[in-house]
Amino acid sequence: MSMDLEYFKNLLLAKKQEIEHTLKNIKELSFGKSEIELIGELSSSDDHLAEYASIVYDHENMLTVENILKDILGQIELALKRIEDGTYGVCEICKKPIGEERLKAIPYATMCIRCKSIKEKSVRK
Ligand SMILES: [Zn+2]
Repeated sequence: MSMDLEYFKNLLLAKKQEIEHTLKNIKELSFGKSEIELIGELSSSDDHLAEYASIVYDHENMLTVENILKDILGQIELALKRIEDGTYGVCEICKKPIGEERLKAIPYATMCIRCKSIKEKSVRK
């Protein structure tokens, strides 16, 4: 069972470039658009960002779009490191494979869907 690491590496690099581009746009816009509009645009382009956007709404906290994107960039960097050291695609909680389908949707996922939903339940209460 060897995963196509090259495929996921390219996916991560493409995602990284896309987010860096968006971050640059955000700076240039200097929030001429409202955060809500930006979240709306991001939500339509990426499932995982939509997930983040819903978290922002749920908790009505002060996370800015910029912080969310920087957070994802950090996760992408870590995922690229995991590819290098051979731990990519393994759930950090249960140590089982995360699953290629999930990684295709969220290439920087660190948890399998099961562990993630358990964790979210404990955070959201
Ligand atoms: Zn797991």
